[in-house]
Amino acid sequence: MSKKKAAIFVLIVILILSLVSTFLNKPANSHPPEIKGGILDLNHWSFEENGMVNLEGEWQFYFNQFLTHEDFARGSFIQPVMIEIPSTKKSMAESKPFAQNEYYGTLRLIVKLPDHTSTYGLKTDIVLTSYQLYIDGNLFGEVGKVGKNRESSRPFYNTLTSYFNPENNEVELIYHTSDFWVRDHAIAAPKIGLAQQISRDQQVGLGRDLFLFGMLLIMGIYHVGLYFMRPKDRAPLYFAIFCLLFSLRMLFVGERFLPSRFDLDFFLYGRIAYLCVFIGFSALCGFLYHTMDGLFPKWFLQAGIVSGVISGFIMVWIPYTMADKLLMVYAAAGFGLMGYAFVRLAAGVLKKFPFAQTVLLGFAILGITFVNDFIYQITLANTPSIIPLGVTVFIFTQAYTLSARFSSAFAEAERLSAENESMMQELKQMNSNLEALVKERTSDLQKALEEMEDMSTTDYLTKLPNRRMALAKIERMIVERKSFCVGLADIDYFKEINDRFGHLMGDEILIRIAELLSHAVGNSGCVSRWGGEEFLILLEIGQLQAAFDKAEAVRTLVADYWHADIERNITITIGLCQFQEDMSVNTLIARADQCLYQGKATGRNKCVVDDFALPQAR
Ligand code: GH3
Ligand code: MG
Ligand code: MG
Repeated sequence: MSKKKAAIFVLIVILILSLVSTFLNKPANSHPPEIKGGILDLNHWSFEENGMVNLEGEWQFYFNQFLTHEDFARGSFIQPVMIEIPSTKKSMAESKPFAQNEYYGTLRLIVKLPDHTSTYGLKTDIVLTSYQLYIDGNLFGEVGKVGKNRESSRPFYNTLTSYFNPENNEVELIYHTSDFWVRDHAIAAPKIGLAQQISRDQQVGLGRDLFLFGMLLIMGIYHVGLYFMRPKDRAPLYFAIFCLLFSLRMLFVGERFLPSRFDLDFFLYGRIAYLCVFIGFSALCGFLYHTMDGLFPKWFLQAGIVSGVISGFIMVWIPYTMADKLLMVYAAAGFGLMGYAFVRLAAGVLKKFPFAQTVLLGFAILGITFVNDFIYQITLANTPSIIPLGVTVFIFTQAYTLSARFSSAFAEAERLSAENESMMQELKQMNSNLEALVKERTSDLQKALEEMEDMSTTDYLTKLPNRRMALAKIERMIVERKSFCVGLADIDYFKEINDRFGHLMGDEILIRIAELLSHAVGNSGCVSRWGGEEFLILLEIGQLQAAFDKAEAVRTLVADYWHADIERNITITIGLCQFQEDMSVNTLIARADQCLYQGKATGRNKCVVDDFALPQAR
């Protein structure tokens, strides 16, 4: 267990202990004398030192008679039945002299007090379903309406706190009581003490009830909020329902905050109190199912909800007298589910399920208090209800679980978002790398394409445009309707150069002559390699004479060049033809070639002009 967890456990234990000491403030810290034959002798009891006394024991009961202080003062001839207080169905069944469960009667106790100078207090809760309290013959209050039949009586549960100054050391308590409505024979033991003790007891009780009410209410609202912020997780919703129902219930039980202020229908209060338990328990199942993700099977949730809804529905419609029977059936189902939940949670702890420890701790304490109160409900044993304590501890432990779950969900979300961020960075990086790569590849391809284009249009040796390019240029000139001339230049006796100086030297000479030609033509046109040792000179010159002059200049420049490596000059012969409209490219070239042939045939190193275009130039 981590230090943090250990600290939380210590806190919880401290909380439990402090609450236990508040809730279980025992009414007496030593045993008071027993009530015998309807008389309690407290002559030697010190309220200051030993505390208040629960009036448990043998009270006198006069079935189906309302007897008064005066009746007893006169000396009653009727024999009482001794009944055990607190009374239950079982104990009363043994005492009452008839079979029916609806009756009225007089409940009487004589208390011998240590002195008659103090002011005393008496706190009464349940005495059948209605009662009037008489102390020494004086009416001190009524809860519900006491009557001799169903019509004249009205049930109600409320605490009644009375303060009195006894006339002497002996006080007579008489309850006129009746029950024609619930038939559960429930009578809780009233509590007697000094006025300030009873008053303090009531204040502490009310404080406790309201504190728990407020705490449960806030917890409920808070978790409703949590649920609405993140509806995906249902655990806070179920928890909120549980808190809100039990907070409402706090106002009905204990010091009976609402019943003591609003005189609403007895059955309304009773049914709501039952409903809170039934539906609250369903919510508890839902909470367990959703908090311990995967630990509980779906049927557990369904069983919890179905049992709560069915019981709740029945509770609203059945006669109230059957409520305790329904409670028994419900308790069987409820305790079954609780037992199962306990086993599952324990298994969860062994399997190191997240939060199983805390949930189990809270749940176990809640379970114990439920069992305790269930017994209290059946027996009316004078153990105070400790469900509020169980609920408090449960609420604290489970609120811790829920917030821990939430914070771990947030931490996970943060981690994921950080991871996302770094993934995004990585992706961006990869993307930019990819972009660079694509750029590089594209430029490589572009280069390759350019090279291929170059290769298809350029002569590899001389780097001059090749025959294809030369033809394309001529075509373009024709399309653009420009006037131009074409010269075909052929190196004279080149075979001999190759033969004498070798093919490599021949190549070098070819390159050099290509340069000389380009240089000589300059801006007047362009030079291409036509094939072998032949070049095509495109002259963008409209006048044939000017073109001829240019061709002559070119020829001269080549002829004048001294090739140091082979120690000689090299000449070229040029055949020149001017482009005429409607002339095909083939014709144009053929004519130039014709002229070239003539040049070769007539001595070489000369420029011959096509005589169709210029018959006089020879
Ligand atoms: P003519 O004056 O009649 O043109 O004589 P010639 O020797 O130049 O003509 P011929 O047609 O008999 O020979 C051309 C030679 O050019 C043959 C060939 O070996 C050579 N030649 C053609 N292309 C190349 C080349 O790219 N490199 C080299 N080194 N020689 C080439
Ligand atoms: Mg040739
Ligand atoms: Mg030649």
